[in-house]
Amino acid sequence: MPRLSEVQQFLSSGGARVYRIPCKVLGELTGRVYLVLGAGEPTLVDAGSGQGESTQNILDGLDAVRRAFGESTDAAHIKRIIVTHGHLDHYGGLGELLARMTAEVWIHPLDSRAIAAPEESAALARHAARQVLVQAGVPEETGRELLAHHWLAPREPPAAITNVKLLETNAIDDIRVLHSPGHSPGHVCLLVDDLLLCGDHILPRTIPQLWPESLRPYKGLGHYLESLDRVRAVPGIRLALPGHEAIIEDVYRRIDEIRRSQTRRIQYVADLMRRANGPTTIWQIARGLYQQTAGFFALLAFMDAASRVEYLHQRGALRVANLEQIESDPRAAWQYVLD
Ligand SMILES: [Zn+2]
Ligand SMILES: [Zn+2]
Repeated sequence: MPRLSEVQQFLSSGGARVYRIPCKVLGELTGRVYLVLGAGEPTLVDAGSGQGESTQNILDGLDAVRRAFGESTDAAHIKRIIVTHGHLDHYGGLGELLARMTAEVWIHPLDSRAIAAPEESAALARHAARQVLVQAGVPEETGRELLAHHWLAPREPPAAITNVKLLETNAIDDIRVLHSPGHSPGHVCLLVDDLLLCGDHILPRTIPQLWPESLRPYKGLGHYLESLDRVRAVPGIRLALPGHEAIIEDVYRRIDEIRRSQTRRIQYVADLMRRANGPTTIWQIARGLYQQTAGFFALLAFMDAASRVEYLHQRGALRVANLEQIESDPRAAWQYVLD
């Protein structure tokens, strides 16, 4: 099992201290939780997954920050946890952390149900995913297999968190809040002077996973690209600190790379449609893009393809060709053609 990296300190231009604490989150996937000191109340950004060693990694990390940097990091000292978005690898550890600290939990309203009502969120997400699969023309048996790997159907959903505070503000103490929907409807990036804590919105190696907005409002490629532009327009970001992977030295360049990659992927779908030369379902396009993937990754790949088709359709590049059929049969797949 790979070892976690050490905790690391980053100093902001305004004198805040931001500590990066690595933790295991899901399987071999590692996450990064941040402790922000000197920007108002001591704040933890994200909570790990609560699975396996995740919470223990965070507690050990807080201890390492105390030993290496002389900070007061015992649990009683932390007054606030801000969750960048409502995905399990970022909020699943809240229950275990709150058993050790009396901290307020803040999350954007559009993701708040994920932590305040996890069972409802998971059930509604499964329902919406089923609709998306039907509309996309996924064969029934394949659809059942894909949903069995559904990322929002943990066998034991985490306990509901009560008294969640809604992050409907542009700033909390000296931390600026940038709503950045797309990867998740309520995703936020946090700006501490010239340091950007960017969750899963911008990652240094991976192009962040996208889902179509038909699954939930404020997901989707359109919102995601707008959110990239919103961050791109913030001047003077010296360093970006994401929720996974390494730090990002030049976030503006990375945003441009992600944008170019997304443009290529959108173009690729348009090319597949052109070659198909006739009505095509999202499922056929997804198979054209990702023939090799299976299981959980097949679901992610399918959702990524669906987000691109939806984007082209929203912008008038595609039209639905079988309107009569889908009006008379709610289980009919939508057939797209280039407009
Ligand atoms: Zn995420
Ligand atoms: Zn994540």
